[in-house]
Amino acid sequence: MALARKDPTVWGAVTVEPGQEIDVEVPISESYSGRQVSFPVHIKRGLLPGPAIFLTAAVHGDELNGTAAIRSLIVDPEMRLLRGTLIMVPVINVLGFETHSRYLPDRRDLNRCFPGLANGSQASRLARVVFEEIVGRCEYGIDLHTAAIRRTNHPNIRGDFRHPGVRELGEAFGCEVLVNEPGPEGSFRRSATEAGCPTIILEAGEIWKMEPAVVDCARRGIKNVLRRFEMLAGPCASPPIYHWVEKTQWVRANQAGFLDFHLGPGSTVRKGQPIATVTSLLGRNPVAITAPTDGIVLGITTLPVTAPGEPVCHVAHLPAQAIALDAAVVRLTDVA
Ligand SMILES: [Zn+2]
Repeated sequence: MALARKDPTVWGAVTVEPGQEIDVEVPISESYSGRQVSFPVHIKRGLLPGPAIFLTAAVHGDELNGTAAIRSLIVDPEMRLLRGTLIMVPVINVLGFETHSRYLPDRRDLNRCFPGLANGSQASRLARVVFEEIVGRCEYGIDLHTAAIRRTNHPNIRGDFRHPGVRELGEAFGCEVLVNEPGPEGSFRRSATEAGCPTIILEAGEIWKMEPAVVDCARRGIKNVLRRFEMLAGPCASPPIYHWVEKTQWVRANQAGFLDFHLGPGSTVRKGQPIATVTSLLGRNPVAITAPTDGIVLGITTLPVTAPGEPVCHVAHLPAQAIALDAAVVRLTDVA
């Protein structure tokens, strides 16, 4: 669907002048009691012309680490933009956010409804507003997520790295693990990229939390991108290693019981290495869950119990040389 371009510095009757920053409210819907619902947006404009970039979080309304990162950047005195425009939206899915929910009140996942329809479902209409008001004003985008309920993720960047703009963003962000994954049909990053606005997501941490290490990772990555585009002064914090991942897989339990993990998110694993041990309620019959491949642990379940078929650990495939190299460096994201 063609996307009409809008000026990133003009919001209704308000124009953001060079060097200025403003807050605006973008109407998205109405509550059941007929009140207007909007999301707040903060816009920073540099003194010189340059690219427009959006930062968004809580497309899933319960994923708050990204919200915390954007909120802190809005009031960060270091965030004096040299050029371009930064459009910051701490909560996209305000309707889900109000009820601490991933979904909208219509039970749809907003992240499957892009680019949206002006006369579609509740979720589809919100997606359309986001597309027209935010994506339509930007050349690049960074969308912040966490793992879904009962899981946690080691920080990793995802996007369609066949696209040069997405690859440039991913590299600039400076997260060690990059997963080449365009995203499902209807996802924000995929639709925005297809509409001409290269977009990456950060997947890090858990829902319903503001985790300092995750917030730091998001803040550092965003500043790295802004520095790469000469929108912010200062040096980039480049990682000592990049893992470009093409394949990931979930490791599932084959029996029920309590889980004892032998490693955590971000750990590298060798094929056959025990990831966790499952024991019965009485502490009997230990059975190891082992790594199906050489790789790095992207995420694990946060529930201490499991049942046959339940996902326990998300592993990204890595070649053995990458694992050996990884052992020799200190990663930027190893701060938790
Ligand atoms: Zn999400």
